[in-house]
Amino acid sequence: MWKKIRILCLLVILLIVAVNAWKDKNQDWRKPVFVLLHPINADGLPSTQRYIQKLSVQDFQGAQAYLQEHAQQYRGQPIYFYFNIGRQLKVLPPKVPDHARLWDVVLWSLKFRYYAWQQHQKADGAPSLTLFLNYYDPAKTRELKHSTALENGRIGSVNLFASKKQAAQNKIVLVHELLHAFGATDKYEIATGQPIYPIGYAFPDQKPLFPQAKAELMAGHIPVSETKSKMPDSLEQTLINAQTAAEIGWVK
Ligand SMILES: [Zn+2]
Repeated sequence: MWKKIRILCLLVILLIVAVNAWKDKNQDWRKPVFVLLHPINADGLPSTQRYIQKLSVQDFQGAQAYLQEHAQQYRGQPIYFYFNIGRQLKVLPPKVPDHARLWDVVLWSLKFRYYAWQQHQKADGAPSLTLFLNYYDPAKTRELKHSTALENGRIGSVNLFASKKQAAQNKIVLVHELLHAFGATDKYEIATGQPIYPIGYAFPDQKPLFPQAKAELMAGHIPVSETKSKMPDSLEQTLINAQTAAEIGWVK
């Protein structure tokens, strides 16, 4: 009985999702983009809480400027991104499945959309995109799980370190997920993490090809040889290439 009700609920959500899907597929880049950020104390530690309390919109200014600069470069006219820090949320987004079997992913994306709908309050307004920022103290969590964003629904669950030292790399993760939510795809090999040539390269035509000075943002790593790559330190060591710009509709 309960199982049937559960399935019925999911089907109803699926229907709503399907209706909304075509509605919010293409961002109108002539309009300003409002990004709502909800911090979450994901490990429940006092140290993480202190970090969240000190967060200000200033901490995300670099990401905002980066997006504006690249948008200008591709479109020849600016796009205005406005980042806003919303309420700290008490409930974590549903856990992203470790092994991405199709059904698990479908189920998770429904749960995530339901979560976002539950958390939304009138006072949040109607942001173009909502990112749930799950903060972890790097002293207790060495490695973060994968972040994910959905284009349908324009929501993302982003895992970040609660540390000033990691702030620059946090911004890389945040902008990477933000672009996912607007339709950008990953440009690295899932098995190895190595950027895919040529789409995952910042300078695919460079001769000699290695070393590359920057990472393509959706590849996430700077290729240093055919089999090795390294994590960029900050957004300044990354760029958005033409392929990604096309996927999000910045170029035709
Ligand atoms: Zn990604």
